[in-house]
Formats: sequence, C-alpha cells, structure tokens
Amino acid sequence: MLISVAVPVPNLDLLTYAVPEGVATPCIGARVVVPLGTRVVTGIVVEVGVGPTTNVKPIREVLDAGAFVPPDVVALARWTAEYYAAGVGDTIPALLPPMARGGRADAHKTTRVASITAAGHEALAGDDKLTSRQREALELLAGTPTGIGTSALAARGIAADAISRLTKRGYISLRNDRVDRDPFAASDRGQGGVGMGSDPDPTPFRQLTGEQTDALHRLRKLADTRAFHVALLHGVTGSGKTEIYIRLSSDVRAAGRSVLMLVPEIALTPAAAFLFRQAFGERVAIQHSGLSDGERHDQWQRIRRGDIDVVVGTRSAVFAPLENVGLIVVDEEHDASYKQDESPRYNGRDVAIVRAQRSKALVVLGSATPSMETYHNAMTGKYERVVLERRVLDRPLASVSVVDMREEYAIEGPHVILSRALREGIQARLDRHEQSLVLLNRRGFATAVFCRQCAGTIDCPNCSVSLVVHGEGNARRARCHYCNYTARVPPTCPLCAGPYLEQAGFGTERVEAEVKKVCPGARVARLDRDAIRKKGSLASLLSRFRDGAIDVLVGTQMIAKGHDFPRVTLVGVVSADVGLGLADFRASERTFQLLTQVAGRAGRGELPGEAIVQTLYPDHYSIQLACRQDFPAFYERELTFRRAMRYPPMISLVNAVVRSRTFAGAMDDASEIVEKVRRADPGLRILGPAPAPLGRLRGEYRAQLMIKGMNRKQIREALQSALAARPELQRRVVVDVDPLSVL
Ligand code: ADP
Ligand code: ZN
Repeated sequence: MLISVAVPVPNLDLLTYAVPEGVATPCIGARVVVPLGTRVVTGIVVEVGVGPTTNVKPIREVLDAGAFVPPDVVALARWTAEYYAAGVGDTIPALLPPMARGGRADAHKTTRVASITAAGHEALAGDDKLTSRQREALELLAGTPTGIGTSALAARGIAADAISRLTKRGYISLRNDRVDRDPFAASDRGQGGVGMGSDPDPTPFRQLTGEQTDALHRLRKLADTRAFHVALLHGVTGSGKTEIYIRLSSDVRAAGRSVLMLVPEIALTPAAAFLFRQAFGERVAIQHSGLSDGERHDQWQRIRRGDIDVVVGTRSAVFAPLENVGLIVVDEEHDASYKQDESPRYNGRDVAIVRAQRSKALVVLGSATPSMETYHNAMTGKYERVVLERRVLDRPLASVSVVDMREEYAIEGPHVILSRALREGIQARLDRHEQSLVLLNRRGFATAVFCRQCAGTIDCPNCSVSLVVHGEGNARRARCHYCNYTARVPPTCPLCAGPYLEQAGFGTERVEAEVKKVCPGARVARLDRDAIRKKGSLASLLSRFRDGAIDVLVGTQMIAKGHDFPRVTLVGVVSADVGLGLADFRASERTFQLLTQVAGRAGRGELPGEAIVQTLYPDHYSIQLACRQDFPAFYERELTFRRAMRYPPMISLVNAVVRSRTFAGAMDDASEIVEKVRRADPGLRILGPAPAPLGRLRGEYRAQLMIKGMNRKQIREALQSALAARPELQRRVVVDVDPLSVL
C-alpha cells in the first residue's frame, strides 16, 4: 500500500511511501515517521492508496491508530498549499500543536502517580522482606486507593529508588496523570483571561440596541440555514460588534455546532476569550503562538477531544481541529496580520471562508474599515452586508481635527514633533484624569543617521535600508529593522571621517521622550514590537493602561487595533502620512484604515472622544476621508484608482521575488521567468522584472515581477510551468498569491 505524506520541509511536494507488510494502513491525518535523505522526520498522511512511483521507501512507524489531525483539516491544508503555491509540508506547523512533531503522541504535562497493586496488598499482609521504608510506603498507598503523586511521596521521605524497587516487584504501579496547562489560569481580563472553573454567567447579555438587534436577526437567519454564507458585518468603531458575535455564537452552539472566533492579534485574544468564557464557561479554548508550547499543546488536545465549543485565536487557529463548525467570525477582517509573511503565505480570512464553505457554515467578517476586496464582494452581492451605523447608546464618533504640519513648522520651527494642539490636548486629559493614545507607525528613536559633510547615511551592510537608532546616550545602538544587524553609532562618519553626524527622522521612542518632556509628571509608556519582546510584557502593559496606571500610551499600529479602553478620550496621530510615500498600491487603503481605526479608540466610554491628526498632506483623500470617517466615499475613490491601474479587487495579483547573490543574477532570472510566463499564457499582464523596492535583503539581491490576470489558477499555472525546468531557481523565488504588501 502506498501513501502520500506531507513532511515539514520547505517547498517539498507530497512524498510517496510504502506501508510495509503486516503494518495496518494509517488513515488520513495520522502521523507517520518516515526516512527523508539521511534524516527521519514526522509527517502527516494526506492520501492513502496512491499510484505507484519509483524508488519508494517504507515508512518507519505509524504514530496514531486514528487520524491525529482531522481529515477535513488535512484537506483544508492541501487547499491552502495549492492556492498559495506552497509545499503541503509548509502548512504542518499550523496543523500540529508544538511537541506533536517529535512523535510523542501524548506530550501533555504529566505527573507520576503511584498506587498500590493487589500484590502490594498481599505483601503488606505477608512478605517480611520489606524494609521499613517500603512498608511505610505501601501503608501510605493502601490508605489512598486513587494513588499518590511521586513528588508528594518524596516529600514524605520516600525516595525514587524505593518506589522503583517496589514497582519492579509488582507491589505498586505507576501511571502518568495528565495536567492541562491552562492559559486562562490566574489572570484577569487584561492579563490573559479568566480563571478556569468560573461558571458561565447565565445572564451575561445586556440589552441590545435596535441596530444590534436587527443585525443579529439577519445573521441568525443566515446561520439557521446551515448553508454556506459570507456576511460582512460593517459596523463603525464602538458599534458593539463583539456582543453580536457572542449572541450568534450562543445560537450556533445551541444548535449543536461549534464556533471559531479569529482575531488579528495575540493582544486581542485575552479580552475576546474573557467575554466568551463569561458566556460559555470552560468549553472555550485559545490558540495562538504567544502561548507556551505546553499550553498550546493542551488547548489543541482539548479541542481535538471534543471538549471545546468555541476556539478563540489568531490566524493559524483557522486550522484548529474543531469538528462541526457552524460559525466562523473573522474580526477586523481587513487586518494585515491575517496574512502570513512566510510560506504558506495564506490569508487566514480567506482560508476561513474556504473552511466555512466546506462545512456549510456562516462566516461573519467584521470591520469598521473593510478591505477593498471584502467590501467589493459585499457591494456586488457576493456577500451579505449587515450594517451598524452608530455607536452603542448613540455615543458620538470622535471628532477629528487635522493639523497641517507645514504651518506648524513655519511657526514652531522645523524640529517640532508634537504640535501645539496635541500638546495642549494631552495636558488637558492629564488635568481631567483621562487617557491619551499617541500613534506613530514607526519604531525607534531616529530613523536615520547622516553626515553633514558628505551626506552619507549609515546603512545596513546586508539590506538596502538605513539603520534605525534605538535608545539614547550610552544605550544608543543602530539597528536594521529587516535583518536585525546591530552596530554602535560611530562618533564620526565612516565614509569621510567628518565629525558632524546628525540623527534624522523620528520614531516611537522619540515621541515617548517628547511627551515626557512636555508633560512632566505624566505616566507615559510605549507599546511597539521593541517594548514587548519579553513574554508577558504586552499583557501587563495593556492591563496597566486599562487600570489607569498609565496616562499616555505611545505606540505603533498595535495601539490602533480593536482595543476597548473606555477612559481614552484623546487620540493623537503624529505623522499620519508615514505609509503614504510607499510604492505600494495599498498605501492609501492602509492609511485610511489605520487613521479610522485609531480615531475609533477615542470616546468609547461615557466621555466623548477627540482625535488630532498631524500631517504634511492634509489634502490627501485617504487622510481627508478618514477624518470624516466616510468609508463609502473612500471606497468609491479608491476603486476608481484600482480599476484604472488594474489592481485588486478588479483583478487577481501574484507577486514573485527572485533572490540571488548578485544583482545581475536576480534580474536575469526574473527576466527568464517573465519570458516563460508570457509564452505560457499570453493573456496575462506582467509588470517587471524590476529591482524590488527592497533591492537587497539579508545579503541577497532581489528582483520582482507582478503578474495580473482574471484568474489565480491561470497565473499560478503559468508561473509553475515557467519554473518547472529549474528546481534550483524555484527555491529562490518567493511567490505571494494575493499579496497584501508588494514591498
Ligand atoms: P466594536 O467591536 O464594534 O468596536 P465593541 O464590541 O468593542 O465595539 O463595543 C464597544 C463598547 O460598547 C464595549 O465597551 C461594549 O461593552 C459596549 N456595548 C456593546 N453593546 C452594548 C449595548 N447593547 N449596550 C451598552 N453597551 C454596549
Ligand atoms: Zn539588514
């Protein structure tokens, strides 16, 4: 019998192995240990009874009697690999819990528990060869028929060797008891969730607003059909979408089906999980990469065993081993975090839609700023569109004012970072004991160092970018944001030895320092990727902010997402145009979304909110329309641009980047691919080859080509046929289907 196996090795297709005589054929989804070159790896059976090929090796071992990964999830992974032009094995990390790859079928955290056997009872009664210690141990165990943990026995002076001797003689037996590590344990809403064992609150529901009631009613009707539907829940920030997710989940669960709730960021899972736990008790699991391996493994096993009705998680939770899925919610569906930036480059939202289609489920895509793709599908009738136009309790949206920084520079000087309006706004919040958020979507202290003599900059030796300065004084370091290369900031110019090195541009660290300077006494903290490197620091930062221990939180887009902080009444955006200069067709969309979302963090409680947006381009449509929070107008405007320039959602796009040791090599290979794709399918439009916007990365040169067409399959096939003859080149090409960023 021959089987197809996915192995966790980049870029490999399915491999065929033989099941030796006398070994029961494993089922789809079972793990098998197979030889691969000189190695032995754990793979997943994807197909059974495949056609013969040459040179087939036998599998070494079958690890599971049944399907370890449910067969429908294996099929979903196959679809993902094919659609995103990746190896099936690339999906394995998303399919398997950590520790399941080494072959230990039950890698739960366990405790050793000893209990007395029948022979042990007899020995106690008769065998006089027992030492006094051994007798003591048996007497203890005889008094506790369920057994005693070996660590508890050790604490009573009964050492491991005494236990092992008794075990050898058959007087006691040892077993491993599973202890589920619980990510909800010992934490509050901000920290990580809610304690296990808290009973579901029988009346957690509050009175819905009229709009919420109507929206829920429409979604409920779709769920009741038990057929595949996609609905866009287009609700302004603070319109109470979460409440709708929970009630809908409750219905679906009552109908005997399970729920998958996806959120874009690890930071958003605790709050969501807390609310679901409040409603559904223990049958809620979390899945995301911020959990420890043990926690993740245990949560996965609980889902697999069928102990779970609702899974709350990030992107890869779309592959959770949940059965009978009736509802998938993708909250903040526009968020770029749903896209994985390594192979397979899948979008969790789109895989969710495919999963729902296969299990006849309802998908709810929630957002205040839907992606162009989703909104387009809603407008053309492919998706249902359910709208929440008002905030709950008719709270007003934040009022937004724009500060033209060109005028501000003219009055305040060219180095001003916080405008007068923003400084005064923050101070007023401090005086009133309210909170502020300050957004700048750029990390570090200074974004470049340049020489006043030769105008040279300090660049990364591996990448075509300048190094970013982090820290001040002695802690000052220059770092590459792509490859992490780090260097001291030299005292003089390394190119011309000129003594006048100047820092230019600024990031979140500088803004944090500025706020501290202009508002002495304010409790200021920063939230960006640098600030949360330590495990737990993100959760503690968020909970300190929620508890009011921080007055001003400065941060990158991380502070803009989904959070609900009722005491925030001011949002400041330091440079609204950070993303606008980028050579990316989504630059405007992303700017619009970011500004609308961050403004949406203000005024969510009883106090009204205000947003102050600093920009050099006050007339740009994405800034203007975000300030007016006019989504339909933005969509129309942007769609016109996409149509004229032939970009998604009007067409399908595949981006390919060729990596090479030399610039010429990268360009030559890219040209060859362009030629071959043209020949394979003259109907496709190809942009490039051109040097990629990031022309050099981690020491490799990069050339880019973009293929546009009406049909992704067609594009993929043309590309695959262009690469078929050169497997070596194939490994150097990064293919991104439906790219979210083409940089
Ligand atoms: P969204 O996700 O749409 O931005 P949320 O679901 O976070 O909004 O809700 C915003 C705030 O309104 C939350 O604090 C939530 O608890 C509250 N809320 C939601 N629905 C209601 C309601 N029907 N009555 C009162 N408050 C509500
Ligand atoms: Zn670098």
